[in-house]
Amino acid sequence: MAEPTIRELAERHWQGEGDLVHGEHPVRPIAGRQSEEIAEGLLYVKSVASANTLDTGEGLVMLDTGGAFDTEHLHTQVRRWRPSTPLASAVFSHHHVDHVFGTAPFEADAEVNGWRRPVVYGHEEMPAHFARYARTQGWNTAINRRQFAGDGSMQWPVEFRQPDVTYRDTITFTEGELTFVLNHARGETDDATWTWVPERRILHPGDLFIYAVPNAGNPQKVQRYLSDWAVALREMAGLGAEIMLSGHGLPIFGADRIRAALTDTAELLDSIEQQTIALMNEGRPLDHVIHSVEVPAHLRDKPYLRPVYDHPQFLVRNVWRRYGGWYDGEPDNLLPAPRVAQAETWVALAGGVGQVLARVQELVDADDLRLACHLAEFAVLAEPANTDAHGVRASVYAARSEQQESSMARNILGHAARASEQGLRDIAGSY
Ligand SMILES: [Zn+2]
Repeated sequence: MAEPTIRELAERHWQGEGDLVHGEHPVRPIAGRQSEEIAEGLLYVKSVASANTLDTGEGLVMLDTGGAFDTEHLHTQVRRWRPSTPLASAVFSHHHVDHVFGTAPFEADAEVNGWRRPVVYGHEEMPAHFARYARTQGWNTAINRRQFAGDGSMQWPVEFRQPDVTYRDTITFTEGELTFVLNHARGETDDATWTWVPERRILHPGDLFIYAVPNAGNPQKVQRYLSDWAVALREMAGLGAEIMLSGHGLPIFGADRIRAALTDTAELLDSIEQQTIALMNEGRPLDHVIHSVEVPAHLRDKPYLRPVYDHPQFLVRNVWRRYGGWYDGEPDNLLPAPRVAQAETWVALAGGVGQVLARVQELVDADDLRLACHLAEFAVLAEPANTDAHGVRASVYAARSEQQESSMARNILGHAARASEQGLRDIAGSY
């Protein structure tokens, strides 16, 4: 049987038949898939992110260029498709490392053939983010080892291809027969660019659309902007695009579907932000807020809004951080005792680590893994060399990890489980 085309796969995903939790997760490559011309003059490569190359009739233009791990593959695929057409331009939709690394071999092509060097477009905040990455290399190495459950070999990059042309609100360029309208938005990042190609009715939203609950909460990363994001999604929804090249996850084909996906995503973001702000305006503590805000019921079963990457509760915390601060409204947390001192005191009151671990087992049997994690954590904090405590902690976090639909939650919890197998609380941070 012939391998399904990207359009056929996209149809399956639209019908809710994709395995988005694991095998067909939006931030994973499609197994065994090289590249495909999904419309005339449009080559699509789905790696961690999408990399999209348009033939303008003169030069090629790329909308996102993949990660460092994609560079060779992407170049090979594009050159198999268009062996001798120069890369004229590339648009980096934002500074994240899965989108900005593919231009180098095309620049080498230009050098060898005496072609004009490709021009890279990006938002004016992008260079500051590359500088931030260089300043926080250790931090970004640690948090991404947790988030993506790698083998521990990943090192965060510190050198980046800077954009040649930056802009503030909007910029338009033409290449061959096509127009590229770039628009700035604050969303997952404050340097997001979404691109509209009117002649082909192609929309590239970058990571403003990722075929999942938006990455608007990420526990370990900088501020995201939910309501601004929703504004951009609604603007895109008004274009009448026929092909949407999702930043992650498969493309969506057809104007009605694209409009629905964009407006539903906007509604989710607005709803989370409005619910959170309403409770903040009542002066509620963070604990109350995170356990009260919910994704509207009619959005929960949309195949493109499953919480397979970020977790809706993380979005709530991001809104809290944006409009509030780090104080959670709990006075004992304002100037807290070290966690170890808290744990030692509670564990002693409970009658020792053995009692605590027995209670953990009862909670596991009652399927209350959430509470079991708290007790297991305190057991290990109180007695970091206690192998029984680490054994219980490892199994509790492993089970809790398994339960998670969100891969961020699954991987961070799984990281804790693997750490306890080594007698640590965390591998990436070696503590
Ligand atoms: Zn991305």
